[in-house]
Amino acid sequence: MKTIEEMRQEVFAWTKQSYAEKLFAGTSGNLSMYDPESGIMTITPTSIPYETILPEDMVAMKLNGEVVDGHYAPSSEWRLHAEIYKAFPEAGAVVHSHSPYATAFAVAHQSIPVILIEMVPFLGGDVPLAEFAVPGTDAVGLNAVAAMQERPACLMANHGVVAFGADLKQAHIRAVYVEDAAKICYYAKGIGEVHVMSDEAIRAMKGE
Ligand SMILES: [Zn+2]
Repeated sequence: MKTIEEMRQEVFAWTKQSYAEKLFAGTSGNLSMYDPESGIMTITPTSIPYETILPEDMVAMKLNGEVVDGHYAPSSEWRLHAEIYKAFPEAGAVVHSHSPYATAFAVAHQSIPVILIEMVPFLGGDVPLAEFAVPGTDAVGLNAVAAMQERPACLMANHGVVAFGADLKQAHIRAVYVEDAAKICYYAKGIGEVHVMSDEAIRAMKGE
């Protein structure tokens, strides 16, 4: 079991890194980790600038919305994170980004096809698109969960990206690869036809 203090330090470190990598714009985007033993999720607070954020600003809460420890309100998207932890027992961390190339696909209502070798081991294949939901509602999480039945990441229509992993390191690298795939797909579309990887190649990479 991790202490709230340990979780805060970890969420803080990955928040700073994600912000430096431009996965977030302004105060948008948020990340969390979850300890199933204590039932506590530690998540970034709402509307606090990432330049000046501190470890103690992270909010410890239950998945039902009850704040256990924290001096700010949790991210307005805490329901998105909570629904993912409830749906996928293997999820120990969630990264929600508004990274620009991936969000452009989400605005175009296009999933990202399997175009890069990294997408197979890191993302399990393509990046599906979740239906639009009003921010802050349970539907944001439920729609994302519906889209991620066979994938650890998805695009959220007119909104951004969400990825989960066993820990923040894995959730973060998945969010990074979603953005990388979107960027390369965008450039490839500008050059000419985009060739999706064959099912045969994908199966061989998965060792099937
Ligand atoms: Zn968002």
